[in-house]
Amino acid sequence: GARDGLGAYIAKPETYPPNVVVYHNADFVAIHDMFPKSSLHLLLLPREQTKTYLHPFDAFEDAEFLEKVKAETRKLRKLAAGELRRKYGKDSAQEQARQTALSTDPPPDELPQGRDWEQEVVVGVHAVPSMNHLHIHVLSVDRYSDRLKHRKHYNSFSTPFFVPIDDFPLAEDDVRRHPTKEGYLKRDFTCWRCGRGFGNRFVELKQHLEQEFTEWKKL
Ligand code: 5GP
Ligand code: ZN
Repeated sequence: GARDGLGAYIAKPETYPPNVVVYHNADFVAIHDMFPKSSLHLLLLPREQTKTYLHPFDAFEDAEFLEKVKAETRKLRKLAAGELRRKYGKDSAQEQARQTALSTDPPPDELPQGRDWEQEVVVGVHAVPSMNHLHIHVLSVDRYSDRLKHRKHYNSFSTPFFVPIDDFPLAEDDVRRHPTKEGYLKRDFTCWRCGRGFGNRFVELKQHLEQEFTEWKKL
């Protein structure tokens, strides 16, 4: 069924072009989300068969597996940050020249650091996933995308419904274990960047997200 759509990437990652499968190795497949909810939205798919049909909260109870996943998400976060720098970095040509110069003539402490794009990437899982195969979201913070069409799309990435990978292992009594009871998806909208409230006004939120995206990328 539709909820099994991620299985094909895990089974045969080599059959997809690079604009779909970002990379694959023995243990993981990294792909572009087909319906991105931010300007950059990737998914990390662990290939471990004994975990793939588990809820992420259960899969991450295995400490060794969790560490492996965390390590891979650190790699993918770096990769995503590099992509954001290429897309939005100030004067990327000069930035690239600077990085090339580093290898031959390095006075690192005298060079400007540039924006830390890794900080602009969020990594985590949904408290109630819709797709069956275990996956971890790796996306830019902007929540700016044509595909962000429904209220639940915004809140699923902007409330505690989105559980950052670094919050695992979850405590026994963590309230996020009861996401429906908490009603995260039905909450009033709050801008991820400035904290302004938009009540239930999705159209206004979308307009505001566009303004915030413009500011954010050129910051
Ligand atoms: P979930 O809510 O289960 O955590 O997120 C599942 C994600 O998978 C969603 O962001 C959705 O856009 C994405 N998705 C659903 N079907 C496909 C598909 O067939 N291919 C890809 N690449 N992504 C998909
Ligand atoms: Zn705002």
